[in-house]
Amino acid sequence: TPRIGVLALQGAVAEHARALESAGAAVSTVRRPAELAGLDGLVVPGGESTTMARLAAPVHLMEAIRERHDEGMAMFGTCAGMILMADEILDAEALTGFERIGGLDVVVRRNGYGSQLDSFTGPLTVAGLPGTDLSPLQAVFIRAPIIESIGPQVEVIASWQDRPVAVRQGRVLAASFHPELTPDHRLHQHFVQLAADRISS
Ligand code: GLN
Repeated sequence: TPRIGVLALQGAVAEHARALESAGAAVSTVRRPAELAGLDGLVVPGGESTTMARLAAPVHLMEAIRERHDEGMAMFGTCAGMILMADEILDAEALTGFERIGGLDVVVRRNGYGSQLDSFTGPLTVAGLPGTDLSPLQAVFIRAPIIESIGPQVEVIASWQDRPVAVRQGRVLAASFHPELTPDHRLHQHFVQLAADRISS
């Protein structure tokens, strides 16, 4: 059974834990670096990236996550979680000076969708997710970051209005939206599978 942690400093923690459990993972919460030991994957949820960065700073949790990722732990960042994994962030003065995770070669604009409309839902077809062509994923966007550009190793797996909203780079999965807020857990299943690939190999 893949062991998946959920960063539990703030944000949509319980919803992710439920979705991961229903996808067959053994789930634990992470608030301290020691709790990363033995995890095959980590979800960094949506919420508020600045709050999470502030809470993580005293124990250098963001740095510890990056180290574990470099050793092979898969990561799934949603909304604020994706912001913390992005190698470059625009409109993020509030994050200046705070340790972040990084590792995903994208440029994101914090609150990029927020100024137009605070919250909306859109149907997505996701590459590699069976059935999303006929039965799309309903993606919930809440003051979501815009992915402005992606690096050469980054694969776009879903787009909304011609912009990427879900991407994958090796063992990193990231989405602008909140897949934990809908009863459809296909994206969580996809991540659990990605994390499990390391166990079997
Ligand atoms: N705007 C938030 C941030 O900057 C992200 C919003 C979300 O996670 N729903 O962290």
